[in-house]
Amino acid sequence: MTKFIFVTGGVISGLGKGTVAASVAKLLQFRGFSVSLIKCDPYLNVDAGTMNPLEHGENFVCENIWEFVPAKGFVFKIAEVDQDFGIYERFTGEFVHPSHNITSGQIYLSVILKERVGEYLGKTIQIIPHVTNEIINRILMVAKENKDVVITEIGGTVGDIEGMPYLEAIRQLRARMPPNDTFLIHVTYVPYLSTIKQLKTKPTQHSVQKLREYGLYPDCIIARSNYPLSEYERDKIALFSGLPVNAVISAPDVDPVYALPIVFEQQGLGDYLVKKLNLSAKVSSEEYTRNVRSWEQIIMSFLETKYEVSIALVGKYTNIIDSYISIIESLKHAGAKLATRINITLIDASNYDDSALDDFDGILLTPGFGKRAAEGMIRAARYALKKKKPFLGICFGAQLASIAFAREIMSWHKANSTEIDKETPVPIVDLLKEQRDIKEKGGTMRLGGLPVIIKRNTKLWQAYKKDKVIERFRHRYHIMKKYALLMREKGFIINAEDLDGNIAGFEVSWHPFFIGVQFHPEFKSRPWKPSPIYLEFIRTILNLKKKTMRSPSIFHL
Ligand code: GLN
Repeated sequence: MTKFIFVTGGVISGLGKGTVAASVAKLLQFRGFSVSLIKCDPYLNVDAGTMNPLEHGENFVCENIWEFVPAKGFVFKIAEVDQDFGIYERFTGEFVHPSHNITSGQIYLSVILKERVGEYLGKTIQIIPHVTNEIINRILMVAKENKDVVITEIGGTVGDIEGMPYLEAIRQLRARMPPNDTFLIHVTYVPYLSTIKQLKTKPTQHSVQKLREYGLYPDCIIARSNYPLSEYERDKIALFSGLPVNAVISAPDVDPVYALPIVFEQQGLGDYLVKKLNLSAKVSSEEYTRNVRSWEQIIMSFLETKYEVSIALVGKYTNIIDSYISIIESLKHAGAKLATRINITLIDASNYDDSALDDFDGILLTPGFGKRAAEGMIRAARYALKKKKPFLGICFGAQLASIAFAREIMSWHKANSTEIDKETPVPIVDLLKEQRDIKEKGGTMRLGGLPVIIKRNTKLWQAYKKDKVIERFRHRYHIMKKYALLMREKGFIINAEDLDGNIAGFEVSWHPFFIGVQFHPEFKSRPWKPSPIYLEFIRTILNLKKKTMRSPSIFHL
């Protein structure tokens, strides 16, 4: 029998409920239980794919594509999901299926299209029961995977109009199941008032009251705060929530975020959960200890650093750090493996001077869409070519880097992408053949995990040491082979292709590290297993730095 954990949020959004949900999943994994994660997003978009990263953070891409069939005769392809899926995958090491991202857009679309094809047989269609039933069915669909526990995170904050059907759905689910089969975690915020040097629990109190208005009584409160809660605050929250004090868990800011499961473990959350859900242990206590120890070692690898590397992340969505969260984490994973602290600075490509790049050890050109700031991004790649600075271009970043090569090295000054200039006489980057007739925007790009063939005797092969890998794609445009082959005489090397023979990556032969990849290796990087290409990027930078560090001392002798 699958057990259910629900995670709601209160007080403010952006609390890191995704990290809390993933950490709870980790506590269960330590004990040998299998877990699935679901994220309910109350917005009306059908998937996260059409959302601007400046508003909603990164679009995470799943390994698999889901054929969403809202009603007979309708099919939508979904692989782009909420950024919390990146957190889930990085914590659990599992691939999470796109059907686990339930959006209100999908729910309403299903209900309305089902009405159109006559599935409700003349009934009046209402939020309760039709919308709530649709939500319940989607959650139960994931439960059919037969995992020990399904954790469902409800996006937004309790009290939001959009979130109400989800709260009602979980109320109904809880009401119909035995008490030991479900567990509700409410994540709140406990602000610190610096003037009086106190953590304030009042907003949590109000938020619990609000939750009760929906008929939901939390089994545990996880209190996010800048500092750990003292016994005093935990007692207070326990009192007004009607919970034992060991069901009030403090979640202070931690760095790296991967330390959160251990912070929870130390407060007894894992044992509390297992007891309340009546789950019997799946592994011996020795195995449990081994699992916890090995996770602690991963955390230590982020803390015990000997070197430092600085990376400029040049892009167009630099207002919020979440736009590039998987890239940032991948750089940190690579750093942890190489005992290196990575200092990352976001550079707004629409407004910077080349000299701003001088002090960085490496440049990463980011993914993106559309014309805005593209020229600034191309300029960063030209700078990396000129100065022989280690450079990694991801998807849009790789496409723009090939344009930089064409302009800087081939002197094709008008080279461009048709995404930026439809009329360019030198379209180095153009639409994929199969994309030319597609007009709709949502879910129509080339998406998901696809085989990539890596060429021997290239720096990319050196990174992967494999001829074939699966990496995740999300694009409409690509680098045209016709031009790439002409650029070969000046050192532009195709280092990877997809199964159709399209360019999947390139590098520059005479540069210490100038690699562009059409795919997104960051989606598969894990804290214990960094993406090979990010690892090679940081390793090259370190080796170059060590060389320059050594020379003055030789001179000295
Ligand atoms: N806009 C580019 C394309 O559609 C790149 C997309 C991306 O960076 N993921 O091909």
